[in-house]
Amino acid sequence: MNIDISRDYACKLDEKDELASYRAKFFHAEDGMVYMDGNSLGRLPGQTAERVEQIVKDEWGAKLIRSWGLNWFQAPLQVGEKIAQLVGAAPGQVAVSDSTTINLYKLAMSALMLRPERKKIVTDTLNFPSDLYMLQGCAHVLGGKHHIQMLEPADGMRVDTRAVLGAIDSDTALVTLSHVVFKSGYMYDAKTITEFAHQKGALVLWDLSHAVGSVPVELDAWGADFAAGCTYKYLNGGPGAPAFLYVRRDLQKEALSPIWGWFGQRAPFSFELEYAPAEGIQRFLSGTPPVLSVLAMEPGVDLLLEVGIPRLRQKSIQLTTYLIDLFDAVLAPLGFTLGTPREVEQRGSHVSLRHPDGYRINRALIEEMNVIPDFREPDNIRLGLTPMYTSFQDVWESVDRIRRVISEKRHLRFPETRLTVT
Ligand SMILES: *Cc1c(COP(=O)(O)O)cnc(C)c1O
Repeated sequence: MNIDISRDYACKLDEKDELASYRAKFFHAEDGMVYMDGNSLGRLPGQTAERVEQIVKDEWGAKLIRSWGLNWFQAPLQVGEKIAQLVGAAPGQVAVSDSTTINLYKLAMSALMLRPERKKIVTDTLNFPSDLYMLQGCAHVLGGKHHIQMLEPADGMRVDTRAVLGAIDSDTALVTLSHVVFKSGYMYDAKTITEFAHQKGALVLWDLSHAVGSVPVELDAWGADFAAGCTYKYLNGGPGAPAFLYVRRDLQKEALSPIWGWFGQRAPFSFELEYAPAEGIQRFLSGTPPVLSVLAMEPGVDLLLEVGIPRLRQKSIQLTTYLIDLFDAVLAPLGFTLGTPREVEQRGSHVSLRHPDGYRINRALIEEMNVIPDFREPDNIRLGLTPMYTSFQDVWESVDRIRRVISEKRHLRFPETRLTVT
């Protein structure tokens, strides 16, 4: 392979980058840090800092409870409509609410209630553990009659589409997968899987946590039934920002949330004693939303809408391809293996580099080299390439500093014992 591994080449790629100007719209501490974890916690948009101050002082401080009648009550649906445009959903199908885990629970339970006679749930061992715990919890509260089939990746990083289709049968109630897998960055062929599941009468729930804001998601065109995802990753919504959920419009009449709260009631302020679900997506809300966090995510979402998913995807592909080229030239000879598919259409926007000493290398990067990736067991160093603000020089610096950790044997000074948060 003929790749120019000089830093100059990275600078040239940055000069040609159409999105380069967006980097300055995010907060950067002046310390030369290379931030490669935007897929876990997105950077702070400059506008967000201003907006939060305004919400706190003007809306909470000055207007107090009147703000509920001004813009707070509608916020979960209004911000939801903006996210809808990032996931290919027509209006009226997306709301911001709760955490990803809780939304997945609401949607999975809703699906299982719609298919009471079917007892199989199909997922994979690549899924985020919280998604799997949530499914186990559903099976538990429904009496332990469901069987959760967890498909295994043959190559450690992806489950073949044919294997997924092969697992879906007439007893399958629900198929639920992460569109982009959190460890390997593998991206499923969501349309094919959704269409096949429907032929078999099963419902499909997509977790978009590592997909939204970085890859094309077309929920309506796929015919997806349900979806949920994080807003603190590529949407830059801030730590603990609430998640979003999607329910296809024609399912909304029959689908019910398992959590019947007053925000999902048809008339919350009538204080009726009997629950009656609201029309539309609102019935999937539960209780009072975290207003500060809902509103704080809006500037980040607005920036993504301004750029648009096609341009984000294009840059993301350039970034991941460049990283994989550098990996081949510089890191593979040092004992690293690639934990992410090489096929462009099969990967999202983060890349995993595997090394037997991955944990210690990751610690050395953070503590001595001012690079911030993250580590996922057993041996994955994950580099999140966030098209909004990651530069080609960031990619070059990451690879170069990983190379230096190895050649200077810096990682050997760190223990294997894991810290609480990796
Ligand atoms: C990040 C992530 C989550 C996190 O769920 P929370 O409820 O927000 O903690 C869930 N699923 C996937 C696939 C994720 O990537």
